[in-house]
Amino acid sequence: MPKGVYKRVKPIWNKGLKGFGLGRRHTDKTKFKISQSHLGIRPSEKTRKKLSLFFKGKPIKEETRLKIKATMKAKFEPPTEDELERREDLKKIRKSLEYQKWREQVLLRDDFMCQKCGEEDVRKLSIDHIKPMNLFPSLALKVENGRTLCSLCHLKEKTHGNFSRIPERIVIDC
Ligand SMILES: [Zn+2]
Repeated sequence: MPKGVYKRVKPIWNKGLKGFGLGRRHTDKTKFKISQSHLGIRPSEKTRKKLSLFFKGKPIKEETRLKIKATMKAKFEPPTEDELERREDLKKIRKSLEYQKWREQVLLRDDFMCQKCGEEDVRKLSIDHIKPMNLFPSLALKVENGRTLCSLCHLKEKTHGNFSRIPERIVIDC
């Protein structure tokens, strides 16, 4: 058994350091998680002004520029006749009785529960196409291609809304 007063041999681990988080950076994985959890949340007017001031005059990464371009193109470019016809067909499917039945079947199969977070509030639930209707219209009414998601989880899907019109942004892992 050692006795007496001992002198510290090793230096104190945090000597001279100002704080645990100082100078540390989030990993890419954490950054991705943060950005995912912030999806669908719109910052207040005050914050938006601050952000715009911060980004003013700063160069945009080439990658980001291309992404913005693709989104804008999909949103604002006037659709061709084929595209219009295609959209009409999709509208017809959405209004059809079969579509209503498909929704009911998927809801029943998933027991009225979000398949990602388990949300059970029926008002928040929506039916998602695993392979988007836009690209796979023939799968639109297949029960295997549907799943129940709550509005928030739906928003976080890579294939949600306009994104499904931009092939570069689509990640289908099924
Ligand atoms: Zn959910």
